[in-house]
Formats: sequence, C-alpha cells, structure tokens
Amino acid sequence: MPLGNIRIVTSSLGIFVIMIFPTIKMLINKNTKTLIKSVGVLYGIFLLLLLIRAGYGMYNPHISVLSTNLISSMVFLVLFLQFLIAIPSYAVILKDYANEALLLMATTDNLTGATNRHAFMGASSAIYNNLKFFRTSVSIIFIDIDHFKQVNDTYGHAFGDIVLTRMAAIIDSCRRNSDLSCRYGGEEFLVMLPRTGCEAAELVARRILNEARAARFAEHPEFSFTVSIGVFCGVPSSEQSFAALIRAADDAMYQAKHLGRDQIVVRSVVCDNDMAKSA
Ligand code: GH3
Ligand code: MG
Ligand code: MG
Repeated sequence: MPLGNIRIVTSSLGIFVIMIFPTIKMLINKNTKTLIKSVGVLYGIFLLLLLIRAGYGMYNPHISVLSTNLISSMVFLVLFLQFLIAIPSYAVILKDYANEALLLMATTDNLTGATNRHAFMGASSAIYNNLKFFRTSVSIIFIDIDHFKQVNDTYGHAFGDIVLTRMAAIIDSCRRNSDLSCRYGGEEFLVMLPRTGCEAAELVARRILNEARAARFAEHPEFSFTVSIGVFCGVPSSEQSFAALIRAADDAMYQAKHLGRDQIVVRSVVCDNDMAKSA
C-alpha cells in the first residue's frame, strides 16, 4: 500500500478507536442529557465518515492525507462543526452539572443525605396549599430520637452521626415516593404525606417506630434506640397554615415523650381531639 494510503488508513482508524467508546457511552447512557446525546450523534457521524475514509484509502491507491475528495471534505466539515458545536456544548454541560451539584448541596443535609429543612418547607408548603384548596387530607409525621444526647455522651458524637444517618435511611425506606421527608433539626425528622388520612399515616409512623427499635449497628452490637412520634392528620381548614400543622405534629410528639417515649400519638384535625396511642 502506498505511504499516503497507509497514513489515511492508520490516522482514520486510530481516531476511530480512540473515540468509539466515549461516543457509544454518550449515546447509550440513559442518564445523559439531550445536549450530550446531540454531541454524541455528531461524533457518531464523524466516526462513520472516518471508517468510510479508511476504506476509501485502502482501495484507492491514488490518494493521500491531503487529497481533496468528497469523503475528506465531509470529514473536515464535520470536524469543523465539532469545534463549532461540541466545545461550547461542553461549557454548557459543565455549567449544568455545576448547577445540579450546587442545587443538591443547597437542598440536602450533608450528614444524613436527607432533604434539608429549608428545601422541605419550600416544596411541601406549595403542595400543602394545593391540598388545602381542594380540601384533600394530609398528614405530618414528626419523629424525634429518644435520649439522643445520651447516645452522644455514651458512644461519642461520631457514632451519634451514624445513628442519625440510619434514621434518615429508615424514614426513606418507610415512606412512599410521593411523600416528602427532611431532617428538621438535630435529631428531629419530618414526613409530609399528601392525600393520606390518619389510618395510613399511623401505619407509616408505626413502621418507622418498629424499624428504629429493630436497628442494630456493627460498631456497637449491644446498642439500640427508640423514637417518639407525633402524627397530625386530616383535612386542613382554609385558615390553617402549614407551620401550624407542623406545630401540631410537634405537640403530638411531645405528648408521646411525656407518655414515656417509644410511642406514637395521633392528633386529628377533623375531630380536633387527641388520640394517644401507645405502641
Ligand atoms: P429527648 O428524648 O427528650 O428527645 O432527649 P434528647 O437527648 O434526644 O434531646 P435533647 O434535645 O436533649 O438532645 C438532642 C441532642 O442531639 C443534643 C445534640 O448534641 C444532639 N445533636 C444534634 N445534632 C447532632 C448531630 O448532627 N450529630 C450528633 N451526633 N448529635 C447531634
Ligand atoms: Mg429534639
Ligand atoms: Mg430527642
């Protein structure tokens, strides 16, 4: 094969081999954004042209790297398009990723990975106003770990952090995807259950209570903990604010503490009376 042809074939195939896997990854990865997929399509066209160029070089003895023909012109045209489109696209994609990372940092509690209070209040207040407008039932579950200060004092702050992280995971595993939860304060967590009445909310609360009781830790196999839970549920009246709902769930939780901890107190907005339920 003439030297010019060898150069065409090896340069085309070389670039093809280098770029094929990143291109396939861009195209088949379900999570990639449309912009990345579009750049992937452009790369795909470029790779296809490179293959044609290599084949053309193999069977045409009279061309060299600098020969002008349709295939070479198209390869250089697509290469030019890549400079024009792909490079600015990367800047946009990087900015998108940075924005996503910032949003995650701003809305997530960095210890437990749970949604933070600020983000929860924003999201759930909007949902609550909608539920209130349509007179739909809603439930709030307020969870507080019992004697958590003692956990820190006995086993150390780092182990306390592990317990908090497990608590967040337990809540996540017990709620539905449509429910919202957050770390409300130090060892306090909230769950909002839209379109959920007292019975279903109490079931979720009981699941959380039992999962917390059953949790064991490799670091201290003898250790176990309990939670006190307040549930506030029902169809909110038009003048009832979301903050008032949380306060009512908090009150119910404090009642559970006073009744001896490790239990659930359900307070209903409809009957407006308390129903203390021991576990
Ligand atoms: P009660 O049963 O009445 O709720 O008692 P408690 O000890 O759980 O409640 P208290 O409010 O007295 O103590 C809460 C403790 O939670 C004190 C604080 O040091 C601890 N805490 C708050 N945030 C964190 C955290 O991020 N990590 C750890 N390890 N501890 C925390
Ligand atoms: Mg507390
Ligand atoms: Mg506590």
